[in-house]
Amino acid sequence: MKNTTLIVLLGAPGSGKGTVAQYITKKYNVCYFSTGNLLRNEVKKKSDMGCKVESILGSGGLVSDDIVNEIVEKNLRGISEEYGAVVLDGYPRTKKQALMLECRYAPVPDCRVQAILLNVAPEEIISRISQRTICDSCGSAYGPSQRKTACACGGALVRRKDDEEVVVRHRLEEYEREIEPLLAYYADKLIEIDGADSLEGVAAQVEAHLRSLGIEERR
Ligand SMILES: [Zn+2]
Repeated sequence: MKNTTLIVLLGAPGSGKGTVAQYITKKYNVCYFSTGNLLRNEVKKKSDMGCKVESILGSGGLVSDDIVNEIVEKNLRGISEEYGAVVLDGYPRTKKQALMLECRYAPVPDCRVQAILLNVAPEEIISRISQRTICDSCGSAYGPSQRKTACACGGALVRRKDDEEVVVRHRLEEYEREIEPLLAYYADKLIEIDGADSLEGVAAQVEAHLRSLGIEERR
């Protein structure tokens, strides 16, 4: 991997990271890398890692640094060099993971890390998550206004166990605790975006930053 921009997408669960990332990857020459989707795939495959992950997610806990680092190592190296950037969703989630990413890629020529934060108030997030459904195949999220019964990819839309309100509140508390040191760590390369805006509004803000980073649209 060389000449690559690693875009660390930060934001609480339900802040719209996945939706924004999918929008960007359709339009720009970037690869979407979601540790959440990778972990859920392990669960679906019922691998050893998947079984461990399933019980942690079911109780609203966060998966350990070791498990996440392992899955990143396994999957990030295979990403093609033709991409202008990789959008990392769900990683790094802790400062320890950020340091691991830095150690791994800082020595790579022309590889840079840029962080983008989607800011959304906690009550807005709880309202969004308690109403959304998720595609059990590709992980896309759908809000109630979209009135969908199936995903564009053909997958079934389901309510996720970890989207119940009590579980979401617990995840938000953990998120707040973990994001502070990460925001401090990325302070000099952090772009903040108003995530409460519409999808189009959020996308426009993100696009302006991608252009300023020199990332090209898909041809
Ligand atoms: Zn789908």
